Amino acid sequence: MQVIYKIDILFLGIYSFLVLLVGTVFTIASQNLLFIGVTLLAEIIYLFFALKRPYKRYRALRQSTPKEWKQILTQCSSFYRNLDEEGKQRFERDIRIFLSNFSVEGQRRQPVDIKMKLLVASGFAALLHGRPEWEPPIKDGVLVYPGERFNRDYKTGKGIRAGQAAINSPLIVTEKSLEKSFKNPDDGFNVIYHELAHYFDMEDGRAEGIPSTRMSPEKARQMKTIIHREWQKAQAGHSFLGTYAGTNEAETFAVAVEFFFENPYIVKINNPNLYDALKDFFNIDTIKIIPPLMIHETHEKHKRKIKKSV
Ligand SMILES: [Zn+2]
Repeated sequence: MQVIYKIDILFLGIYSFLVLLVGTVFTIASQNLLFIGVTLLAEIIYLFFALKRPYKRYRALRQSTPKEWKQILTQCSSFYRNLDEEGKQRFERDIRIFLSNFSVEGQRRQPVDIKMKLLVASGFAALLHGRPEWEPPIKDGVLVYPGERFNRDYKTGKGIRAGQAAINSPLIVTEKSLEKSFKNPDDGFNVIYHELAHYFDMEDGRAEGIPSTRMSPEKARQMKTIIHREWQKAQAGHSFLGTYAGTNEAETFAVAVEFFFENPYIVKINNPNLYDALKDFFNIDTIKIIPPLMIHETHEKHKRKIKKSV
C-alpha cells in the first residue's frame, strides 16, 4: 500500500490542468475576470477531494507505531514475528496506512477494540506484503461480528458462518474466529486470509477461484487448471486442503491462500504448482518467512489429521 500511486499523480496532474484550461478559456471567451475566481475555487475543491486519501495516509505514516501495537502484533501474528527488521517496519507501515483509510467496526458500526483492528489489518498486511504497489481489493471496510458464528440473516450465535465475502459489501468476520485464526498460526485456518482471498477472486465480478484482474491472461489460465485439479481432489476427499476446499473452486483458492500464508510447506510438498502459482501471484516466497522447524512439526501433525479424516 502506498500513500499515493504514480497513476493517481498522473490523473491528478491531468485533471488539474483540464480545470485550469477550461477556466482560462471561459475567462478569455467571456472577458469576465470572475471566471478566474470560479476556476481557482473549482481547482481547490478538486484538489481537496483528490488529496484527502493521500493526506490521511501521509499523516498516519508520520506517527510512529505505538508500542502496544507492536506487542499485540508480536504476540498474535506469526507472519509479522518471522519478518526481518525491514519487513516488520514495512508491515507496520501497511497496518498504519490500512487503519487510516479503511474502517474496522462492529456489527452495527459500533467501535471495536484495537486488538481486533490489528488482527484484521495484519491479514491485509500479510497478503499485500509482496505487492507494495497493490491496494486492498475491498471498498467498504470490515465488520467484526461478536461471537463465533452468524447465519444468512446476519443473526449472531446462529448458523455456521465464521466470515463472509460478498461483492459490494463489507468483509465480515466474527470476533472468535478472528482470534482463533491467529491463535494457531500453523493450522491453515485464518478467516481474514480466507475472506480476503475471495475478494481478490471476485474483483472481476465472479467467484471462480481465479484472481484474474491482477494476472496476465496466460497466468490466469494456468491458475485455473491448477485450482480445478486441486478442487477435483478435494471433492474426492484426497486434497491436503481438506474437504471444505471441495465446495467449489472459489473455496479451493481461498483455503489454498490460508495455507500458503500460514503453513506454506504443506502446499509446496503436496502441490508445487499451486505453491508456485500463489508465490507468483502474491510475489512472495512464504517458505522463506515461516521457519522450517515449525513447518516440519506441523506437517507431521497435519499428515496425521488427514489420515484420520480419510
Ligand atoms: Zn469461503
